[in-house]
Amino acid sequence: MPSVSTSSTTPYDVLVLGSGAAGLSLALRLAQKGRSVMVVSKSRLESGSTLWAQGGISAVLDENDSLENHVRDTLVAGGGLCDEEAVRFTVERGPGCIRWLLAQGVQFTRDEEGKQRPLHLTREGGHSHRRVVHAADATGRAVETTLASLAAHHPNITVRERAVVVELIVDRATKRAHGAYLFDRDSGEVEAIGAKTVALCTGGANQVYLYSSNPFGASGDGIAMAWRAGCRVANMEFMQFHPTCLYHKDSRSFLLTEALRGEGGYLRIPTTGERFMPRFDSRAELAPRDVVARAIDHEMKRLGLRHVHLDVTHLPAVFIKEHFPTIYAHCLELGLNITKEPIPVVPSAHFTCGGVMTDLKARTDVDGLYAIGEVACTGLHGANRLASNSLLECLAFAEAAAEDIEQTLSKRPAPPALRQWDASRVTDSDEDVVVSHNWLELRTFMWDYVGIVRTTKRLERALHRVELLQQEIQDYYGHYKITAHLVELRNLVVCAELIVRSAMLRKESRGLHYTLDYPQTLPQARPTILSPA
Ligand SMILES: Cc1cc2nc3c(=O)[nH]c(=O)nc-3n(C[C@H](O)[C@H](O)[C@H](O)COP(=O)(O)OP(=O)(O)OC[C@H]3O[C@@H](n4cnc5c(N)ncnc54)[C@H](O)[C@@H]3O)c2cc1C
Repeated sequence: MPSVSTSSTTPYDVLVLGSGAAGLSLALRLAQKGRSVMVVSKSRLESGSTLWAQGGISAVLDENDSLENHVRDTLVAGGGLCDEEAVRFTVERGPGCIRWLLAQGVQFTRDEEGKQRPLHLTREGGHSHRRVVHAADATGRAVETTLASLAAHHPNITVRERAVVVELIVDRATKRAHGAYLFDRDSGEVEAIGAKTVALCTGGANQVYLYSSNPFGASGDGIAMAWRAGCRVANMEFMQFHPTCLYHKDSRSFLLTEALRGEGGYLRIPTTGERFMPRFDSRAELAPRDVVARAIDHEMKRLGLRHVHLDVTHLPAVFIKEHFPTIYAHCLELGLNITKEPIPVVPSAHFTCGGVMTDLKARTDVDGLYAIGEVACTGLHGANRLASNSLLECLAFAEAAAEDIEQTLSKRPAPPALRQWDASRVTDSDEDVVVSHNWLELRTFMWDYVGIVRTTKRLERALHRVELLQQEIQDYYGHYKITAHLVELRNLVVCAELIVRSAMLRKESRGLHYTLDYPQTLPQARPTILSPA
């Protein structure tokens, strides 16, 4: 809890919370203009979902393509809920953002010699043209490692690794951001860091579900902190699930690319071997991602299964090893030869479409507080995300925020003296089991009751449990010293509440929100906006 003594730390121009594509590109753009920046990551500098992104970044770079096509594809994917202005704004910035990444030294896959465009473009589901810039199948890694290396060596950037942001520092009277409290995982101390401007770049909330393709840190910290600070949050019911994540006790968050189904893989019921997708869609395993995820969820719930099988054993072993070397090797390491045995899979929470509401300059409801990347709801994704638009969103809105910060920074006063964190009334916990138990309980009932297919009854059950957990976690937070997991759990339960409440407000099925009680789509699309009390 904050006490009255003050901070002596020199304030930064900009405090960037998070070091994925959004945070690093914002930090670099501002540092390159001479601004003093601190970048904070709760783990290493190279971290976040960005590091794991495989496919690529969408941008119109082919002469046969057009901005209008990209806008249309995004609007179609978004199920009628995208903000068209935000879509146009993002799409128009795409080519410039790719040029900026190239200028920073990111090595994208080049096109064959003799072709007119310098970069190789792939085509992904939902895109009417080739427009996905990539670095083989590890685009996020190429972007993240390049930007992190530049940030680590930039004289205007101070990097704080293994520092968990516990809370934003916001003046309640003026509704202005002044900094944040950082918990140092190594020393156990909490420090107040002051800045003229604060940017939330903390990623999504996908760890709120038992199965997630995201790294553990995707606990919605920024969304929960912004909510507590007085920001509106929108469209949290739209959580995107990837249909096939490996189900194995020793391997979490390992995605099995949709190309496995594209190349002829079958989905089967483990107990009977039945190939079930033809019962759900005439395209069987090639149906769109959401249809496949929903069918798997249906079969798992109907039969009480822990997973289903993805079977590629009928494909030639040489082909599998050649086309899916990483998956083959990873599974073999776990004792699973995918050329001979079916792969246990579950759908997994993959992308948070909603988040902290922002305008086109990435500004939130709190003065001096920006939100960029997966933490934000800009209006781009609507009810469903078009593949490879998320990294583009990080880059486009980091550019827009950097421009706005540049223009306004000289008018912003330095933050006042900050209250230091007061840990005098809390003790070391002697029952950490409360945190681990509640963490698992929360993620399990979110998976069972608020997952891919919803009903009003299940949502009501989930809300009841969320409220009980919130009381217990808040009580624990008030009595015991902070740990990284406690901070994350406290934020996860807030995100869970926001997801459940948003889902309860939507009396229709649209995009990623599917409820058996309201299977129809209403004629008019409206965002779900929650305002803090
Ligand atoms: C497996 C996978 C594949 C994907 N493939 C693609 C793709 O091909 N194309 C595409 O466009 N998108 C893809 N996505 C989505 C995309 O990667 C993310 O939406 C995007 O990287 C989010 O970037 P970000 O900067 O907003 O957040 P992240 O990259 O998630 O970074 C979050 C940062 O915030 C820090 N942080 C969080 N909370 C705190 C806290 N309390 N204190 C301190 N630091 C904190 C983390 O340490 C991290 O540095 C994929 C995602 C996954 C998981």
